[in-house]
Amino acid sequence: MSDTNGNRTTMTTRPGGSFIGSRAMPELVYHAPKTLPELMDLIKIHGPAARIVAGCTDVIPSIRTGRWRFDPGLHLVDITKINALNQIETHEDMLKIGAGVTLTRILTSPDVKGFCPVLARAVEQMASLQVRNTATMGGNLCMASPAADTAPPLLVSDATVILQDARGETTVPVADFFTGPGRSVMTPGQMMTHICIPKIKDQDSAAFLKIGTRTAVIISVVSAAVRIGMAGGVCESARIALGSVAPTPVRVTAAEQFLSGKPLDDQVVDACAGMAASAVSPITDLRASAGYRKDVAKTLVKRCLMACRKDLT
Ligand SMILES: Cc1cc2nc3c(=O)[nH]c(=O)nc-3n(C[C@H](O)[C@H](O)[C@H](O)COP(=O)(O)OP(=O)(O)OC[C@H]3O[C@@H](n4cnc5c(N)ncnc54)[C@H](O)[C@@H]3O)c2cc1C
Repeated sequence: MSDTNGNRTTMTTRPGGSFIGSRAMPELVYHAPKTLPELMDLIKIHGPAARIVAGCTDVIPSIRTGRWRFDPGLHLVDITKINALNQIETHEDMLKIGAGVTLTRILTSPDVKGFCPVLARAVEQMASLQVRNTATMGGNLCMASPAADTAPPLLVSDATVILQDARGETTVPVADFFTGPGRSVMTPGQMMTHICIPKIKDQDSAAFLKIGTRTAVIISVVSAAVRIGMAGGVCESARIALGSVAPTPVRVTAAEQFLSGKPLDDQVVDACAGMAASAVSPITDLRASAGYRKDVAKTLVKRCLMACRKDLT
């Protein structure tokens, strides 16, 4: 490994030489640009051979397990040294979080707690302290896992993401960002720069819950987020989102519409939770069966609705 001009490190590995886990690392070139224009230049110069990374908490396990293989000569572009991507800003009623902000900073930010407490609650339940210290929300979203824990809170918060490429910026609702497991609307050469979240209204309450195969440091078997706004004793607005029950994190709009104009009594809560579970088609995998996921989706939505009801009354 050698250092040149302060922000570029070349890592060269010989066959059978350097290993990551049980896999040999192909030769790669590591870049750590300090500004957004420098980063865009690297993407322009290296094209598809450039790969943006942040905390690498998804990238390294993917390489170790052989899920991600790459040819020698890959340019790994680390965005964590770019100041503009490391800020949490408030703009009137909007919270703007840089894609390079770590989960720990999100968790400890008073602005996040004030603008989007449900996101803080989700991040609190993610991974371990060590992982949260380097992992980013940008990485969590760009990985596009159906189990990404930051997705349901962002979906119920009507959040948007800002994507950038050589042609400029595009704003995409989180609801339109995911297109399949591991896939999103991002095109080659495009990156995520920010996540924008409207401030939660005073009359709204939101909740997040997840279930895994153990109680901590675990990928969700099912996750749920709910945001409810009440007026005059009835539901005025509702957002319900689920993770790990479909190819992408999803909103269940039929269940949301069902709540409109209704009091949040036990029958309504139960029926709504049942509708949310019926609307999704989870798969059976190593972590849980489809039937279990449906049952848990119903329970989590119900508990989230009850938590919002308690908070609002
Ligand atoms: C022990 C452990 C526990 C975990 N627990 C959880 C959990 O509870 N919940 C959960 O949801 N996840 C969990 N994860 C997964 C992971 O930590 C998160 O998804 C994390 O937020 C990823 O962020 P990162 O910065 O490390 O991404 P990286 O690994 O750096 O990148 C992930 C992907 O996103 C791309 N990327 C990153 N940033 C950008 C950007 N700005 N623009 C374009 N592309 C980008 C990379 O190319 C890569 O494909 C866990 C991981 C580990 C190792």
